[in-house]
Amino acid sequence: MAPLHCSVYFDHNATTPLDPRVLEVMLPFLREQCGNASSRHELGTVARQAIDRAREQVAAAVGVQAVQVVFTSGGTEANNLFIRGAAAGLKPGRITISAIEHPCVVGPAQDLQRQGWNLRRLKVTRDGVLDAADIEHALAEKPLLWSAMLANNETGVVQDIAAIAGRARDAGAVVHSDAVQALGKIAVDFRALNVQALTLSAHKIGGPKGAGALVIDKRLDLRAVLAGGGQERGLRGGTENVPAIVGFGAACDIAMSRLSGRAARMIALRERLERGLHSQGAVIFGEAAALRLPNTTYFALHGIHGEALVIGLDKAGYATGSGAACSSSNDAPSSTLLAMGIEPELARGAVRISLGEGNSVEQVDGFLQALAAVAKRLRGLQAVAV
Ligand code: PLP
Repeated sequence: MAPLHCSVYFDHNATTPLDPRVLEVMLPFLREQCGNASSRHELGTVARQAIDRAREQVAAAVGVQAVQVVFTSGGTEANNLFIRGAAAGLKPGRITISAIEHPCVVGPAQDLQRQGWNLRRLKVTRDGVLDAADIEHALAEKPLLWSAMLANNETGVVQDIAAIAGRARDAGAVVHSDAVQALGKIAVDFRALNVQALTLSAHKIGGPKGAGALVIDKRLDLRAVLAGGGQERGLRGGTENVPAIVGFGAACDIAMSRLSGRAARMIALRERLERGLHSQGAVIFGEAAALRLPNTTYFALHGIHGEALVIGLDKAGYATGSGAACSSSNDAPSSTLLAMGIEPELARGAVRISLGEGNSVEQVDGFLQALAAVAKRLRGLQAVAV
């Protein structure tokens, strides 16, 4: 099928194109290798072995044993599995999450609140970093569950989870981090992060949509959310999505093989992009944070609506994001930016560029030219409207 239109793709934090090498590995499992991994015949055995291999590949990407990987349908399900599954073994108490979590962490945490849990949302600074004083307040409340993301999907700001998680565990919490955006962009090591559970997703690293994992400490008391045929050691019932799991494993291998080289290339491209954005007067959110994902730039141009800019840029051939893909259907400013104390008017202007392997210097330069033209046109339209 021919693509509908050919844009330069700058929205890799929303999803990445499927890596052709991943597709190759998946194809036999979409065609002839149709076995159910629970079946005892040869086709079933081939499927089981393929899942076992993928489990090792995913485990290797974050430095754990294969037995610690629980495959899910993606990051959303993994986050739900942690929050609901860890809470199921506890009496209601305090759950602490950050103010900038993805909706698939916020939603289940709010469900716990309705069941009698106390929910605290950790504040962030204007740079999008977890607020040190608020962490101290939260620790003093003796939380039972604690979830803070490693890297934010909008700003790309990376938190010092290793230090925070160690403190939260000492305070008695079961600690989780959503590493969906970090995997494949920066090093992610389960043990070094000090967490007991970690969420991953395949489609952010060149893998297929609909596969992810919750990586867990073997001693974690986790209850299944989806009961079924006992798959994933009883932690996630349902016939395994073999092609997607196999693709996830292959994508992990590829993502890990050139991590530092790819990061260096992304940083060089992003610096070029941000120099150009500054020269057009853009505000870059989270820019002063100690660490940001190499591929992410979140910016606004004063007086220009982000949605209008994204649409104008799309017409000019550049696919960008306005805030989080999952919540960009409404006009409310990004809750992440509001939590950072960004004025709503400026937050409404937010546009996210998230670079990927296929992007080039020429594309960045072309984008900056297109941005200047689209912004000029939008400002002109506003002047006429006034
Ligand atoms: N967590 C973060 C930080 C994300 O950015 C996303 C996807 O946008 C998810 C979780 C959800 O992952 P999935 O799309 O695999 O359900």
